[in-house]
Amino acid sequence: MIELRHIAKSFDGTTVLRDVNAVIRDGEIFAVIGPSGSGKSTLLRMINLLDSPTNGRILLDGTDIHGEHSQPLEVRRRMAMVFQRPAVFNMSVYENIAYGLRLRHLPEEEIREKVGWALEVIGLSGYGTRQARTLSGGEMQRVALARALVTAPAVLLMDEPTANLDPVSTAVIEELVVRINREQGQTVVISTHDMHQGQRLAHRIGVLMDGVFSQVGTPREVFATPKNKHVARFVGIEN
Ligand code: ATP
Ligand code: MG
Repeated sequence: MIELRHIAKSFDGTTVLRDVNAVIRDGEIFAVIGPSGSGKSTLLRMINLLDSPTNGRILLDGTDIHGEHSQPLEVRRRMAMVFQRPAVFNMSVYENIAYGLRLRHLPEEEIREKVGWALEVIGLSGYGTRQARTLSGGEMQRVALARALVTAPAVLLMDEPTANLDPVSTAVIEELVVRINREQGQTVVISTHDMHQGQRLAHRIGVLMDGVFSQVGTPREVFATPKNKHVARFVGIEN
């Protein structure tokens, strides 16, 4: 469980997040939706320890991940992040996916098994020896996802993973996320400025606007009964 408690974040005196509160439950797909600049990436980066809040606390199973008793390596081991721009290392597809497993000093045989599984899941069996940099954007993003999945993280953070992809690659990634969540029970936190993506994927949505979650609820709740006119406008229901 991830608890966001009164998260605030400023950069050089400019406040981006004022008071963000939510509980992200184990095994759910939680979509952070909000307009460009609302602080979605900032929030995910703080959950992934790439940045820290100016105020407030982020608890992972009850422990403040930025607190003095936090164990950053342990936190990192339990999470994996996929970024907006497909990012791969300049090595083969196989080695890209094996990367985190090698850091964990897994036996070669086990690495082969896991990478084989991941290649199959992302539909790129037979691509193992390809140089990752020669792949299309959609294929690269699938490799990035495989690299994240292969270490079996409890929490998968995805920061607008399909923002740079065409509709077909987007659908492939969305299907993968839903399938992985269903089969493996990972907690998925995905940010998107596309509320329809939130609607398609998420069990619950948090609408990030003006530095707070204006509303947290199921897609049905958010779309059917937006809490205020700003949320209504953002989800495309003028009233
Ligand atoms: P997008 O949908 O365009 O990706 P976002 O919701 O992810 O937007 P963030 O990238 O979190 O938004 O940025 C929120 C605000 O914080 C922006 O105004 C951005 O310029 C600012 N910001 C983010 N990181 C920094 C930084 N390191 N230094 C200064 N300002 C920053
Ligand atoms: Mg962003």
